[in-house]
Amino acid sequence: MIDLRSDTATRPTPEMLAAMTAAELGDEQLREDPTVNELQRRAAELLGQEAALFLPTATMANQIALKILSRPGCLLIAQERTHIMIFEAGGPAIHSGLVMVGLQSENGRITPEQLRDVTSASEDVEPASVVVFENTHRSAGGRVWPLDELAASAAAARELGIAVHLDGARIMNAAAASGIPAADYGRLADSVTICFSKGLGCPLGAVLASSEERIERAWREKFLFGGAMRQAGVVAAAALYALDHNIERLAEDHARARRLAEGLAEAGLPVDPATAETNFVGIDVGPLGMDVPEARARIREQGVLVSVMRPGVLRAATYLGIEDEHVDRAREAIPRALGALVSA
Ligand SMILES: *Cc1c(COP(=O)(O)O)cnc(C)c1O
Repeated sequence: MIDLRSDTATRPTPEMLAAMTAAELGDEQLREDPTVNELQRRAAELLGQEAALFLPTATMANQIALKILSRPGCLLIAQERTHIMIFEAGGPAIHSGLVMVGLQSENGRITPEQLRDVTSASEDVEPASVVVFENTHRSAGGRVWPLDELAASAAAARELGIAVHLDGARIMNAAAASGIPAADYGRLADSVTICFSKGLGCPLGAVLASSEERIERAWREKFLFGGAMRQAGVVAAAALYALDHNIERLAEDHARARRLAEGLAEAGLPVDPATAETNFVGIDVGPLGMDVPEARARIREQGVLVSVMRPGVLRAATYLGIEDEHVDRAREAIPRALGALVSA
């Protein structure tokens, strides 16, 4: 089986495991783990923020960010298919008492006009307190926000008194695809999440970066959420290894995704290679006259696993561990599974 479901399928390499074994350790809750402290220092710099906090998951990082940026009863604004809106179990409503307002957009971005519209409609009720920008945007297909558009939306949020959280779970994919340093995106936001267990290849781990003052408050939330750990340097060492060794190679994942998208499009499948900007390929099943479960089952029968990008669209992801030969095989297997049904 070729598993193209998700870049979370990466496994730590022997070299990463060796770095974990060699890590210097201490008690992270006492802020005495030197490896965690070093990761926090480097992640803050990488993301254009003053300070950072190591956490087990990006979901926890997002939830803590919302908590420190908002007040209960206020609005959380985000594109309707961001991770925070659909994959975090209603956490913003439960943990922070936020009213979740999802905005529509095809490419995952939110415009300054959309922000102004939603806030003018709500000012008699509760003010909006936080907006989330996701870059790259998962459900839009790993699309990258152009820096100037992100800057314009962040500036509009600031004018409206709305805090900005950047869910940069895959911010390094955005940086690799655009050639723009992650810090240039990160410093537009009040807080930034990065996830180490996706394309960066770690078994787990995430960081929340923000101002010194907010990260002090985030420490308290980390205890509250049960995310304060002990010798967490054993995991932070994997993240440090990833920062040193697994960033440049993201371009390979992107090239493979593009090559897969081009192959599928050439075979007549409804795939737009131009939207494969990073490590995801979207396959629209609508024109194939079948639904998502049927399409996935057919592809599985041909030896390839794919997942769902958004309703009606399959996702194939490339990542550390997916090589050129896997892409070659998928380029044949997926059209074989679906191709016969493409209507002209
Ligand atoms: C995966 C993901 C998360 C959550 O990461 P975990 O470490 O799995 O909790 C958050 N946001 C986005 C955009 C993601 O893709």
